[in-house]
Order: sequence, then structure tokens, then C-alpha cells
Amino acid sequence: MLTTEPSDKTCGSNTEEHGPRVAAASAKRSEPALAIVMPCYNEADVLERSVDLIGNYLESLRQRRVVSQESYLYLVDDGSRDDTWPIIERLSAISTRIRGIKLSRNFGQQAAMLAGMLEVDADVIVTIDADLQDDETCIERMVESYRNGCDVVYGVRNDRSSDSLSKRVPAESYYRVLNFLGVPVVFNHSEYRLLSRRAITLLREFGETNLFLRGMVPMVGLKYGIVEFARRKRTAGISKYPVVKLVGLAWQGITSFSVAPLRIAMLCGVLLALLSSGFGVWALMTRYFGSGFVPGWASTVIPMYFLGGIQLLFLGVIGEYIGKIYMETKRRPRYLIDLKTWQ
Ligand code: UDP
Ligand code: MG
Repeated sequence: MLTTEPSDKTCGSNTEEHGPRVAAASAKRSEPALAIVMPCYNEADVLERSVDLIGNYLESLRQRRVVSQESYLYLVDDGSRDDTWPIIERLSAISTRIRGIKLSRNFGQQAAMLAGMLEVDADVIVTIDADLQDDETCIERMVESYRNGCDVVYGVRNDRSSDSLSKRVPAESYYRVLNFLGVPVVFNHSEYRLLSRRAITLLREFGETNLFLRGMVPMVGLKYGIVEFARRKRTAGISKYPVVKLVGLAWQGITSFSVAPLRIAMLCGVLLALLSSGFGVWALMTRYFGSGFVPGWASTVIPMYFLGGIQLLFLGVIGEYIGKIYMETKRRPRYLIDLKTWQ
């Protein structure tokens, strides 16, 4: 099972069975071609600043030969309705080190990132948000980890002070719930990570349409490393994750990776059945052997509502899983590309 607390800041092997291959990869790797994949949804307010900052940083990595000269920035426009795409086109016309694709509509951050990861041709890719919240200067340490033999490097937040208490507490509890349910997520890691070509090749085998990359990437296995960073506040523009969308992603994480809610439903059913049997025996005993038995309204109506509610809730949970099966059987494309800035 993957280490979920960021105790190991260098490299760690997550499963024993990957041992022999890890040993083979441990020789220092040469400078890789890096593609920085940035999903962008209505990011016109911040995009130029992000591309400028991250592009300059990439240039310094190139000059210092941390990454190869072929490295580039890969912007994925996730069906934005503002000027994001015109900006991407303009920037990529100025520099060959900036490329962009435009998805045919808004597919969501998960699909946009996957599109970038599967479409680029590079030795390593790093996914990073467009709003400069992820500290880009960690990329050098990520690449160093890769050169030391890691195929996956997770960016892990060591400081949540840029989050309000109302975001921090549910977020941290969520990682714990996922771990409790057996979903192998890395604590306080979101979407800032490095993947090697080998990791991407293995990730391609995952055919699911209900995407939750935070759970999928650890399932790839391979040797991994962790780089800690302090997340900044969003530089400009607004979060594209209103509460409803955030809860949707959280729910996706649970239901795409764990059948524990179905088991909990079954367990509750068994417990309630046992309890009501006990209650029935007690009622019979009172009726025939006790005294002062008054047929009660509450004892009839309350369990009826209670059980009705529980049944509806669990039918909903079961329905959620059936819905997932339905969506998966359609095998719809996870993303569709409309335009590219180069041929
Ligand atoms: N994003 C996307 N598609 C979406 C929503 C978001 O590509 O449907 C991108 C967004 O442009 C940003 C990243 O995903 O680069 C993270 O989004 P955001 O910063 O709004 O999320 P938050 O940091 O508030 O959780
Ligand atoms: Mg953000």
C-alpha cells in the first residue's frame, strides 16, 4: 500500500513487487525532455502572467541543462468561454516552446489534464494549475527525483494556510476518509505531479471514463518520490471549483475507487434488521408477560419513517454505482480535441 503521509521526501518504492525494476532504473538518468501540462478553463485573467512566469522558469531549467532543449509548455484549453484560446494561440505563435490544444467543450479538469498527458510526446510531464497556486520552482526537485529513478513524483502541500478553515478541515478529512475506504491517495497531494514516459504508458491502460487521477496514478505503481511545497493563493481570476463541483469530485473519488459505501449500506441493513427483530421480541414479551402495555403511535410511525429514509438513501447509493456502470459501458471518449496550435 502506498505511503499516504509525506514522511519520505526523497524517493520511496510503494510496492515490493516493483523492486527488481526499481533497481534497474536506479542509474542516474540523462536530462529529460519535459512537457509542462497546464489545464486552462476561463483563465484569461491570469494566463499571460502564468505562461510568462512558468515559461521563464522553464527557460532557466533549459539553460542550466536540468531539462533538455526540446522541453515545452503545453496548454490545454478546456472549452473556455473567455479569451483563453485566443491568448494561447497568440503566445504559441510567438514561441515554439509553447503549444496548445483546445478541447471541443468543457470536459472538466481531470479530462483536460489527461488529454495533455496522453497527447504530449516527452520524457517527463508535469501537470500544474494555471493560476500559479502550485509553486513552479519545485519542478527542478521533481526532475531531480526522476533522474534518481522515480517515475512518479507527487507535489504535496506542507502548508494549507492559503485555504480558509472551512476548506482545510473538509479537505484533510477527505484524504483520511479515502484512505480509510482503501483508496490509495497521497495525503495532501492534488494534481501537481511529475510522470515519466513509462508511467504515462501504464496510465494509458486505464480505460475508465469516470476520472479521478489522484486515485489512478498511485495505482500505476512504479517507484515514486514526494516533493513538498507551500501552495500560494490564486493570483487572479476565480476558482473554477464551486462547492457543488468540489463535492462532485470528492464523491467521484470515493465511488470510482471503493465499494465501501455499498458494504456500509449492507451492514446498516443487517444491523437494523437485527435491532428490529430484537424490538419485535421485546414488544411480544411486553404484550403477553408485561403489564400496562399501551399500543403506541410513536413506536409504529418513527421506525417506519426511519427505515423508509434509510432505504431511500441506500437505494440512492446503489443507484450511483449503477449510474457509473452505465456511463462506463458507453465507452464515450474522455476528451475530444477541436484545435491545435501546431501541426
Ligand atoms: N480547470 C479546468 N477545467 C475545469 C475546471 C478547472 O481545466 O472545468 C483548471 C483551471 O483552469 C485550473 C485548474 O483546473 O488550471 C484548477 O482549477 P481551480 O484553480 O479553479 O481550482 P481550485 O484551485 O480552486 O481548487
Ligand atoms: Mg486554483
